[in-house]
Amino acid sequence: MTKAEVADTFDLIVIGAGSGGVRAARMAAAEGARVAIIESRFFGGTCVNVGCVPKKLFAYASEFADLFQLAEDYGFASSGSAPSRPDWQRLRDNKTREIERLNGIYRRMLEQAGVTIFEAHGRVLGAGRVSAGEQQLSAKNILVATGGQPFVPDIPGKALALISDDLFYLPELPKTVAVVGGGYIATEFASILNGLGVSVQQIYRGGLFMRGFDEDIRAFVAAQMAENGVNLRFNCDVMSIDAVDGQKQLTLADGETLRVDEVFYATGRVPNVTDLFADELGLALADNGAIPVDAGYATSVPGLYALGDVTDRVQLTPVALAEGTWLAKTLFATDKPDGPLNYENIATAVFCHPNIGTVGLTETQALECYDRVRIYTSEFRPLRYSMSPAAAGSTRHRTLMKLVVDDASDRVVGLHMAGDEAGEIVQGFAVAINMGATKADFDRTLGIHPTSAEEFVTMRTLTRTCP
Ligand code: FAD
Ligand code: NDP
Repeated sequence: MTKAEVADTFDLIVIGAGSGGVRAARMAAAEGARVAIIESRFFGGTCVNVGCVPKKLFAYASEFADLFQLAEDYGFASSGSAPSRPDWQRLRDNKTREIERLNGIYRRMLEQAGVTIFEAHGRVLGAGRVSAGEQQLSAKNILVATGGQPFVPDIPGKALALISDDLFYLPELPKTVAVVGGGYIATEFASILNGLGVSVQQIYRGGLFMRGFDEDIRAFVAAQMAENGVNLRFNCDVMSIDAVDGQKQLTLADGETLRVDEVFYATGRVPNVTDLFADELGLALADNGAIPVDAGYATSVPGLYALGDVTDRVQLTPVALAEGTWLAKTLFATDKPDGPLNYENIATAVFCHPNIGTVGLTETQALECYDRVRIYTSEFRPLRYSMSPAAAGSTRHRTLMKLVVDDASDRVVGLHMAGDEAGEIVQGFAVAINMGATKADFDRTLGIHPTSAEEFVTMRTLTRTCP
């Protein structure tokens, strides 16, 4: 296509073919808009390539060593000792093959929707004007959905640290690692690597990881991960990294040094705005590069929108998808959304071991909103693990469930779980929470027996009332 053919032919140009960008482009095209999308790296973005999907595949892989042990308890005796580490190259390459298949699907979905694809770096030149590599394009509406990239603090030896993208393409599986950070990625990676037979130390600067999640769940997951063999080092900060004898040597704030094969930093992500805006655009960004937008994803530049991780609000795929859908419908559909997107009660899961699933308010948040809350908890070992001879005295493989109820209205305002399939279980309950279900509604619901999920509808005994 020549420059002249391309100019002024689009109703919407999207920069970034990740979760939010692909969704917005496809939905806009489905409404009859002429749409172009510019992608510089990989179709499907972070989630498909170096995020949710390959992470979940590795999380599955990390469960097998335990399952082999469990299989023996169920009478499936193995002739030799079960492997505690996978054939890494095979696991990694099978994962990569699947990811490449998904890349193809994303590309085809765009093509079939009639979206014009540019594989190039996208840059906003001015209101309604964009470059895709060497080509200049224009459109009435421009959407920036360029996602985020890992942030590593500026410490000496920073270049020796690996980031989350690297895990998915490691040439070898290390024997020992340090994972720095206490959020989603660090906690998932620590669990995954531990399950794959790697000796893991998770280093977190605060007193207890997973800040923002319910306190009881955080403490419970920390205890279970420690039982699983992860060496959790809280109140611990890395001052520098050196390469010593083919390993990485970390110097900690208290002067201690520790050596590991690799160190992963998972200390948050920052918006991806590198060389994205021409100076003359005059768009003011937040200190970390986030693009400020209003409730309709509009920036201060007319016709320029931004959504997903690049706006640094809620960094989750379903949120980017919902925002992309909302914007495409608002710009191009006849049945437009009747208000801004609702960000309340976003369910989320963390695929550490045990999994965390959560929706609604933590106990602490609920106490800020309501005069009095009732707390119901249930901690147990799921039936699956009960036959194991080692189960009797074992404190592993336990599950914690928790309901936070506003005493005045009886509404369940928070539902939290740490245990097997927590994400799968909490997804269903998220509907009830969003509909405003009360504890009486939960109590009226018959359980499915025998399941772990039934505990959420059979919690009859009050654990405590707060304050
Ligand atoms: P992205 O998906 O990051 O897409 C942005 C796209 O823009 C990329 O393809 C990029 O190459 C492209 N791009 C950037 N700059 C340019 C440019 N100038 N020109 C052209 N193209 C450009 N979320 C969940 O909900 N569940 C999970 O289990 C989960 N796991 C995760 C695990 C990891 C390790 C990580 C890193 C993230 C995870 N997330 C998860 C978060 C999720 O991946 C993001 O919230 C989601 O991908 C954001 O979508 P997006 O469209 O905003 O950006
Ligand atoms: P998070 O924001 O979840 O966690 C960042 C962690 O790094 C926090 O523990 C933070 O500590 C710590 N940290 C930040 N700066 C420093 C520093 N300078 N030195 C030491 N520690 C530091 O980010 P992640 O990178 O883990 O993940 C990014 C986002 O991606 C998540 O927030 C989530 O939205 C999304 N994601 C979702 C997943 C899912 O849905 N399952 C999985 C993976 C990612 P502190 O708490 O003290 O601030």
